[in-house]
Amino acid sequence: MPVRPIPQIGDPVLRKPTAPVDPGSAGSDEVQALITDLIDTMTHANGSGIAANQIGVSLAVCVIGVSKNPRYPYKPPIPLTVLINPEITLLDDEQWLNNEGCLSVPLRGNLPRFMNIEVSAIDRHGEPFTQVYRGLTAGTVQHEVDHLNGGLIVDRMEDSRSMTTWENFATHGMGEYLDRIAPVIARTEPKVDADG
Ligand code: ZN
Repeated sequence: MPVRPIPQIGDPVLRKPTAPVDPGSAGSDEVQALITDLIDTMTHANGSGIAANQIGVSLAVCVIGVSKNPRYPYKPPIPLTVLINPEITLLDDEQWLNNEGCLSVPLRGNLPRFMNIEVSAIDRHGEPFTQVYRGLTAGTVQHEVDHLNGGLIVDRMEDSRSMTTWENFATHGMGEYLDRIAPVIARTEPKVDADG
C-alpha cells in the first residue's frame, strides 16, 4: 500500500509534534518503508513535499522534490531529497511573502517565509548532511519542517482574507503572485540560458 491516505486539517496527527528518528535506525525496514510510502504518496498527489505525519506516522521524516509539477508549475526544480530529523538554522532575518497550499489543507493563502536557511538532517542512508536552501525552495523546506513540529500553513497566515480555493487562486491570484515571486526566483535560482 505505497500510496497512503493523507490526513486533512482537523486530524490530531497533524497537530502532534513528531518524534525524532533514532539515527541508528534510519536504515531499518520500518523507516525505509516509510520513506518509500512518502515518495509514492507525494508523487501521486503532485506534492512538492510531504511529511510523515501527513501519512499518519508521527516521526520526523519528510521528503521534498519538484520536477515539472502540474500542481506547482512555477516552482523551481528540487532534487528528490529525504530529510530525517531536519533542523533549520536561519542564515539571516530576510523574509518574503509566499502563497502556499498544502496536501492537508483545502485552501491556500499568503504567509511569510525566510529567504535563506541552512538545514541539517540525516539522509535516507543514515548519513548526516547540511544544505543551504534559498527562496521558494527554502519555503518548501520550512513548510515541511512546520508539519513535523505540528504546524500548518493557516498558523502563519497573517491576513485570513488572502485565503482562497485553488480554483479562485488560479483565476484571481496567480498573476499577482507570479509578479511577486519573479524577483525571488531571479535572485535565488541558478540562471538557465535561453537555449537551455
Ligand atoms: Zn503541507
